[in-house]
Amino acid sequence: MALWKKILIGMIAGILVGAFLGPEAELLKPIGTLFINAIKMLIVPLVFCSLVVGVTSMQDTAKMGRIGIKSILIYLATTAVAISIGLGLGTIFEPGAGLNMQPDAGAAAAAKEAPSLVSTLIGLIPKNPIEALAGGKILQIIVFALGLGIALNLIGEKGEPAVKMFNSLAEAMYKLTELVMKFAPYGIFALMAWVAGKYGLEVLLPLIKVIAAVYIGCILHVLVVYSGAISVIAGLKPVQYLKGIVNAQMMAFTSTSSSGTLPVSIRCARENLGVSKGTASFVLPLGATINMDGTALYQGVCALFIAQAFGIDLSMADYMTIIATATLASVGTAGVPGAGLIMLSLVLTTVGLPMEGLAIVAGIDRILDMARTCVNVSGDLMVSVLIGKSENELNEDIYNAKDPVSEPE
Ligand code: ASP
Repeated sequence: MALWKKILIGMIAGILVGAFLGPEAELLKPIGTLFINAIKMLIVPLVFCSLVVGVTSMQDTAKMGRIGIKSILIYLATTAVAISIGLGLGTIFEPGAGLNMQPDAGAAAAAKEAPSLVSTLIGLIPKNPIEALAGGKILQIIVFALGLGIALNLIGEKGEPAVKMFNSLAEAMYKLTELVMKFAPYGIFALMAWVAGKYGLEVLLPLIKVIAAVYIGCILHVLVVYSGAISVIAGLKPVQYLKGIVNAQMMAFTSTSSSGTLPVSIRCARENLGVSKGTASFVLPLGATINMDGTALYQGVCALFIAQAFGIDLSMADYMTIIATATLASVGTAGVPGAGLIMLSLVLTTVGLPMEGLAIVAGIDRILDMARTCVNVSGDLMVSVLIGKSENELNEDIYNAKDPVSEPE
């Protein structure tokens, strides 16, 4: 049976068992904690390796450098827009309002110790990268990984053994993520049982609002931001873009993996959108590694949901920190199922929101993952069109062809 079905079953079973057991369901919590710990275990090596691989996947010619910089800038800009949409919808929908959850003592202490925006910015550069890795300081790890990746590119041949090693480590981390996710149905069963037992079924209504906020945000982002960019920046018809990417979107929606969708995206870009082979095969894999607009949007909605549910007021600095962290976190998110949930824990930690919130969101993560992966892939394809157009690497006859025909592989 597919993992997402198992997770859904685990979640529903957990709710039923929790509703039946009531506060007794607390006994099941350690199983959930085990799962959360296994997820946390992945963060440092996964972020580090996949980011180094993302940077080193750029080849070193002048054109590639230019395309790379342009892509990265557009990727980051659209991601910041996406998370702002997420924060906006989280503010309008107030999905967590009135839940009145209580963080446990440890989490409250962590919330108090959360660093200010200024000290976060000052602390971006690690004095000692090993210490950053050991301490799980993700922002510092991201900065170091970017630097290392760029340096490896600069030394060319001499860097190859290290690049190969990071590639294989990143692969291993993706695999380990997959293995940990196999445990997800049980972990989520336990977490949902505990949550349902502790807070009752009324937890479900706010979750429906979270789902609605994420889905509406995703649809808006594709229809307004991406279509807008296609028409305003590239001067092309957005309808052709939307028609041309359907297969990749379907694949993304069902597989919840940008990386897994890559073969279909590249095909859509080349056959339906007329993007040249070289551009598509550089921009899209880079995007599948670092461009996660849907994930950033989801993190914005979920961070607000959790803050509201636990009655924590966020300051303007917190909002800015969420935008910065979620943008960087989405860069470090692997294009594999459920990776965004792992990175959400990082956003929560950075602004000092209670980790218990993760348990609630985890229960519906598959449903949210489908929408956000769909946006992630649509964003990669949008950027491939913009870059293709600006670099004269776009065949407009193909782009404007009436009936794009391309089946998922
Ligand atoms: N599943 C998403 C993707 O592959 C990442 C995420 O979990 O947010 O794009």
